[in-house]
Amino acid sequence: MFKNLGVDFRELLKRSYLTDNTVLDRALEINVRRMHYIALISIPLHLLFFLFFLTMTPDTEIELRWRSGIMTVHLIYIFVQLGFAIVVSILKRKMIPRKEAALAQYAMIASLAAMSILLVTIDQYVTTNITPFMVLCIGISIFFVLRPRVTFGVFVAIIAAYYLSIGIVQKEPNILLSNRVNGITFAAFGVCLSLILWNSNRKNLFQEREIERQRRELEEKNSELERLAYLDTLTGLYNRRKWLDMVDEEVELICRYNTKASIILMDLDNFKDVNDEYGHPTGDRLLERIADILKENLRVVDKSCRWGGEEFIILLPQIPLDKAIAVAEKLRVLLEETEFSLDDIHLKIKASFGVASLKCEDEAFDMAYGRADRALYKAKDDGRNLVVDETALTEK
Ligand code: GH3
Ligand code: MG
Ligand code: MG
Repeated sequence: MFKNLGVDFRELLKRSYLTDNTVLDRALEINVRRMHYIALISIPLHLLFFLFFLTMTPDTEIELRWRSGIMTVHLIYIFVQLGFAIVVSILKRKMIPRKEAALAQYAMIASLAAMSILLVTIDQYVTTNITPFMVLCIGISIFFVLRPRVTFGVFVAIIAAYYLSIGIVQKEPNILLSNRVNGITFAAFGVCLSLILWNSNRKNLFQEREIERQRRELEEKNSELERLAYLDTLTGLYNRRKWLDMVDEEVELICRYNTKASIILMDLDNFKDVNDEYGHPTGDRLLERIADILKENLRVVDKSCRWGGEEFIILLPQIPLDKAIAVAEKLRVLLEETEFSLDDIHLKIKASFGVASLKCEDEAFDMAYGRADRALYKAKDDGRNLVVDETALTEK
């Protein structure tokens, strides 16, 4: 029969022990969400049933006992479900702590089971039917995502409680036997349904987790690709291509809103000597440290780029020439005063700067770069460790 259902129960049972915590956590999360709905829907239902029985007039002593028993159960469960609704909404807000959620889940299953078994037992005063128990078995298997061993535990407990409880009221042996057999059938049906649903839920949850893992992996790869495409590998500053794109955007803003921006070209002084004296690897590490100084001492909106070799270029958006000169001067002094410690090597390095303003003109960047480059040459010519700006060129 199980084979026909397309489920290998032995395999399923075996695998239920292999289920890991993320899947169980997700199952619990689903259950808590559903518990909220169950509690909220149950409150008006219990109220409705209570009123329904209230309007009925019992003819006999037995009917009276039946009616007041059923009404009492419904009345109590209005408050029980209200309690669950409150507890579950707190649990949901607190990101569902695992232990408390599991406890609430078992409490709700136990309370639903107690209610259904009570109703069935009280029903036996006037009727032979066991509908509430059937609803319980199907309800638990449909609404709660439970791993097989928990399913077995739950159903064994409820069938035992049902078996004993129904015998208290139902004194007719044939009916009692029939109801007990039917109850066991419903419980067995509930177990099967629960196992089938667990199997498909587990697959979904695994897939969900796998998709999430792949999404994260893709995100990491994308940001790594982005890093490779935008940044200089040695210094982590922007590379030329990305930086030029940002300059183009800035030029557009300058032309559209008549704003200002500047560029600073920075070239380390006598850097060749560092390589010659300490070797290229030390030179590389010094370049990294100089890039760190730029990152730490410029605003986030300023864009630093490794232009090539030991040359750097900085875009200062919205900054006019005089302020850019001050920024370059600050960097010049900072470099001049910094002693770099690379393991046991302690060294100092200076730099020369050419500053130019970015204007709304044809070939805006090429023009500004030309001026900054000439200013830089002048700084080198005039003795290095200097800031020269484009106005010094026009004055010449
Ligand atoms: P100046 O003050 O005239 O700029 O002198 P300089 O020595 O800095 O300039 P020059 O153009 O003569 O030499 C630049 C040196 O920068 C030569 C080259 O080995 C070094 N360099 C360029 N790129 C790198 C790099 O990525 N790593 C290291 N370690 N050195 C580099
Ligand atoms: Mg140099
Ligand atoms: Mg150079």
